[in-house]
Amino acid sequence: MLPEAQRNVLMKEHTSYKIGGPAKYFFIARDKEGLISALEVAKDLNIPVYAIGGGSNILFSDKGYKGLVVKMNIDDTIFNGNMAKAGAGAGLSKLAYLAADKGLSGLEWSAGIPSATVGGAIYGNAQAFDVKMSDTVKNVEALNLKTLKMKTFSKKQCQFSLKNSIFKKKKNLVVISVILEFTKKDKKEIKKTIEQFLSYRKKGHPLKFFSAGSVFINPELEIKDKKLLEKYPEFLKFNEAGIIPAGFLIQKSGLAGKKIGDAKISELHCNFIVNLGRANAKDVISLIKLAQKKVKNNFGIHLETEIQFVGF
Ligand SMILES: Cc1cc2nc3c(=O)[nH]c(=O)nc-3n(C[C@H](O)[C@H](O)[C@H](O)COP(=O)(O)OP(=O)(O)OC[C@H]3O[C@@H](n4cnc5c(N)ncnc54)[C@H](O)[C@@H]3O)c2cc1C
Repeated sequence: MLPEAQRNVLMKEHTSYKIGGPAKYFFIARDKEGLISALEVAKDLNIPVYAIGGGSNILFSDKGYKGLVVKMNIDDTIFNGNMAKAGAGAGLSKLAYLAADKGLSGLEWSAGIPSATVGGAIYGNAQAFDVKMSDTVKNVEALNLKTLKMKTFSKKQCQFSLKNSIFKKKKNLVVISVILEFTKKDKKEIKKTIEQFLSYRKKGHPLKFFSAGSVFINPELEIKDKKLLEKYPEFLKFNEAGIIPAGFLIQKSGLAGKKIGDAKISELHCNFIVNLGRANAKDVISLIKLAQKKVKNNFGIHLETEIQFVGF
C-alpha cells in the first residue's frame, strides 16, 4: 500500500548515536503529500507512527520499533526579507549558515550541531549559548497524526519552555514547516559569533565519538542547602544564573569516564554519554540510571532526561 516504505531498517543508521534495532517500516517524507499518504496507510492499518528528524536527540531500543518510523525530509527553505519559511526537515546548522550569508542573525548557536533538523529543534526547543530555537520562531505549521488536519500554531500556542513545546507535550503533532524571523546584522559579525561557538563546541564537546548531545536537561534550581554551598562554592554562581549544569553534578558524583559496555560518560563533558563504537541502548540506559541515582543521593536533585526514548 506504500511502495516507497522500506521494511526492517536499522535505526542505528539514522541516529547520531549509531544505536538502535530495526523499525518494522521506514518511510522518508520528502513532501507533505507523501507524508499524508504514509500516515493514511498507517491509520487504516492501525500501525503506530514515530516521526524523526536528524536522529540527533534519540535513543532507539536495541529491539527497534514495531511501527512506522517517518523520517522528515521536507527541507525546502525560502527567504523573504528578514523572514524564512523552512521545512521541518531542513538542516538547522545549514540554515544558520544560509542566514548568516544573508546577514540574518538568530540561529548562530546551532551551527555545527550534526544532523539536527528544524522540526526536531522546535519539538525540544533546542538551545545553546543562552539562545533558544523559540527566540527565532514566528509560527509553526503542524499536522495532527490522528485527524490528518493541518494547523498553524502561533509562537504563544507553541507553549515553548525549557527544552519543551506543545509538540513534545502532545506527541500527536508532526511539525511540517516553520516561519522564522531573524534580526538583520553585519555578516562579518554573525560569522565571527559562529566561529566562536564552533570553537567552544570543538574544545568542550566530545565530538570524536557518537552521541546524542546532552543526555540530561540542566535543572533550573536554586541550591539553598548550606552544607552543599560550603562544599561546592560553584553553586553560588549557578544560583545567580538560575541553572545548574547537569554535567557538573555528574562529574562531582565521581562518574567522569565511567564505562558500561561500550558506552561512556565523557570526561570532557559529563552530560554526554558517548558510544565508543559498539554500545547498545541497554549500556546507555544503565549509565543514565547510574547518573540519576548518584546525583539524587549526593545532591537530592532528580536529573530529567533530554534525549527521547523510542521502542522501550
Ligand atoms: C554533538 C551534538 C551536539 C548537540 N548540541 C546541542 C545543543 O547545543 N543544543 C541542543 O538543544 N541540542 C543539541 N543537540 C541535540 C540535538 O541535536 C537537538 O535536540 C536537535 O534539535 C534534535 O533535532 P533532530 O532533527 O535530530 O531530532 P530527532 O533526534 O530526530 O528527534 C528528537 C525528537 O523530536 C521529534 N521530532 C523530530 N522531528 C519532528 C517533527 N518534524 N515533528 C514533530 N516531532 C519531531 C522526534 O519525534 C523526537 O522525539 C546536540 C546533539 C549532538 C549529537
